[in-house]
Amino acid sequence: MKTAIKRQLILKLFEKQGGKCCYCDQHVILSYRWRDQQRPDAATIEHLERLADGGTDHPSNIAMSCKKCNDGRQELDWLTYRSLKRGEIHEYPRANPVIRAAQ
Ligand SMILES: [Zn+2]
Repeated sequence: MKTAIKRQLILKLFEKQGGKCCYCDQHVILSYRWRDQQRPDAATIEHLERLADGGTDHPSNIAMSCKKCNDGRQELDWLTYRSLKRGEIHEYPRANPVIRAAQ
């Protein structure tokens, strides 16, 4: 995705989601500075159905999440991940047990 399109998209998503991450519901920050974009609370574009699983760039498949959630999702489907992040479920069998040990 091109930078200009990404910026426009993330602005729209920011408004639509009230500035909150689609997973953990925490406020994210919006910045065009590279340094700010590395923060865990930086806004990122998230494909709900991962591209690796056949997801597309269609608007219905795209949401805004914080970088921390985006980085931590790995292979989980987005609904399960969201429930996990919001404390609705507490455990989910991971393929890689190292992740849980690190928490
Ligand atoms: Zn988040």
